Amino acid sequence: IQQQLQHSEKIKIISDIAASVAHEIRNPLTSVRGFIQLLGSGDLNQEKKTYYQKICLEELDRAQKIISDYLSLAKPDPENNEIIELEQELQYASNILNSYANYQNIEINITIKDRDLFIYGDKFKLRQAIINIGKNAIEAMTEDGLLELELVKLKKSAVLIVKDNGIGMSLEQINRLGTPYYSTKDKGTGLGTMVSFSIIRKMQGTIEVHSEKWKGTTFTIAFPLHGDH
Ligand code: ADP
Ligand code: MG
Repeated sequence: IQQQLQHSEKIKIISDIAASVAHEIRNPLTSVRGFIQLLGSGDLNQEKKTYYQKICLEELDRAQKIISDYLSLAKPDPENNEIIELEQELQYASNILNSYANYQNIEINITIKDRDLFIYGDKFKLRQAIINIGKNAIEAMTEDGLLELELVKLKKSAVLIVKDNGIGMSLEQINRLGTPYYSTKDKGTGLGTMVSFSIIRKMQGTIEVHSEKWKGTTFTIAFPLHGDH
């Protein structure tokens, strides 16, 4: 199943996203506040205390996840656009992804087919996009998964490939990628792909998703090379 993702009409303006993310973070904060109040209210048995504490920690983790999926967009604009060397940024993102991968015993392979690929944009946001997409790939795999990252020049584009051998997606799932709050995970935020896609598109990048249920998923992200007109 191959699908060119083109719902540009669905790209949210950053301020819209910010408003909804703020709303999402307020929910866990409100419940943590309530449970801390309960904890302070005196005669509670140990069982109740432990239970309330557990809820507080889970809610804080959830807020943390929302913030980390959203990290780069939450940073104040104006953007910091500059010439970016892709291999360096891929390496950076890969180092971060390694900590998630090790935890699940997943291997990461990097293949650099072409060197000195320069594009133009905000490198912090680019890192965030790669990390979000890579994190999903890792989360889609069980033990012994393999995450392949590849960099290659294709005509006038720098192409970044993120490939996993995880659970894959149906056509319907692929079509919902990038829309806010779409998640199939128990504790997902459904913000990671939305944030990544809007970052990539802002940098004039295109995204192609190829996926097969139970086989794996490949994201092919192409950016115009800087200075190549
Ligand atoms: P979250 O990771 O919090 O669920 P995302 O926006 O990052 O939110 O991803 C949305 C959904 O897209 C995921 O819940 C998952 O169903 C699907 N998805 C994204 N990437 C992959 C992948 N590499 N393999 C399988 N499913 C994926
Ligand atoms: Mg995610």
